[in-house]
Amino acid sequence: MADKRDYYEVLGVDRNADDATLKKAYRALAKKYHPDAHPGDKEAEAKFKEASEAYAVLSDADKRRQYDQFGHAAFEGGAGGAGGFDFSGMDFGDIFGDIFGDFFGGGSRARRNPNGPIPGANVRAGVRITFDESIRGCDKELTLNLKDECKTCNGTGAKPGTSPVTCTKCGGRGQVVFTQQSFFGTMQNVQTCPECNGTGKMIKDKCVDCYGTGYVTNKKTISVTIPAGIDDGQSIRIREKGEPGKNGGPRGDLLVEIRVARDPNFEREGTTLYSTCSISFAQAAIGGDIRVKTVDGDVLFPIKPGTQTGTRIRLKGKGVPSLRNKEIRGDQYTTLVVRVPEKLNHEQKEALKAFDALCGNTLNSEDSDSDKGSKKKKLFGK
Ligand SMILES: [Zn+2]
Ligand SMILES: [Zn+2]
Repeated sequence: MADKRDYYEVLGVDRNADDATLKKAYRALAKKYHPDAHPGDKEAEAKFKEASEAYAVLSDADKRRQYDQFGHAAFEGGAGGAGGFDFSGMDFGDIFGDIFGDFFGGGSRARRNPNGPIPGANVRAGVRITFDESIRGCDKELTLNLKDECKTCNGTGAKPGTSPVTCTKCGGRGQVVFTQQSFFGTMQNVQTCPECNGTGKMIKDKCVDCYGTGYVTNKKTISVTIPAGIDDGQSIRIREKGEPGKNGGPRGDLLVEIRVARDPNFEREGTTLYSTCSISFAQAAIGGDIRVKTVDGDVLFPIKPGTQTGTRIRLKGKGVPSLRNKEIRGDQYTTLVVRVPEKLNHEQKEALKAFDALCGNTLNSEDSDSDKGSKKKKLFGK
């Protein structure tokens, strides 16, 4: 991961490139390096993957922001054993459809030997955490129904004592080939064999414990370390906790999507927190320490005499920890709102009147007539 090229460099665009420019750059590279145009060319395939990954990140506003802020580290691991961050929801197929429309028809897939090791599928799961847990990080236990290889048949799906036979439709290759006219001329497309679902084998006598699937489902508890600073919608990849592979292939990964509950006091944007804090008129006028809510508890913050409503104060380092390093935290911005009292008792009213008079204001602005003014005073009296 350390020598990964900069995504902007990969696509050959500058850092301010807009979506149309990104798309154009990616489209050109994808056309140039698409595996179907260079069968078996590993270098072209790597270039194609690199460009696809760069486009997947930069074409997503959220991921682009994270990348701009943290670089590749934004999507790497670091916390506990919980692996790296996944590009949640990223689907190269979607990007493809978007870029190439129907040119590929969603058909082409890398050819693989059904008798060679096949990695297991990824499993997705979700975890809900509180806002506070997202700031501090937490450990969660997930209970999932996960597939394991059936011990009775060792994953073959065939009744003990029998063996699967070679699929007659695909001759054991697991895939069938069909020819298609495409953007690059005539293309051979490969499809998973519908007869054997790509296994290359057919089972005559099914294993009774797994009904011929080769798998049994077990309930498993998996602990997930959620790093401080995780945001709503981000995923954690836990390596090899997904579905089992075939023919000695590794298990797939478990992708845990984190849902963070909202907090009534704070709005989050990246590592910055926003809040409001109401202060009294007297506090605003006289100044001094006010009490401000932060995720670390209340803090005292000195304000200047004559602070106006709508003033925004900055509480340095009271925001969200960086995913890379939880010691580095964003800031909190709090907008001060001067509270106007809605109900006043007699004593409070008199004090305010006296204050207003000291400021040289006439009490009732709607009439300047001194006679009416004195009548009103009587009405308010006692
Ligand atoms: Zn079985
Ligand atoms: Zn087949």
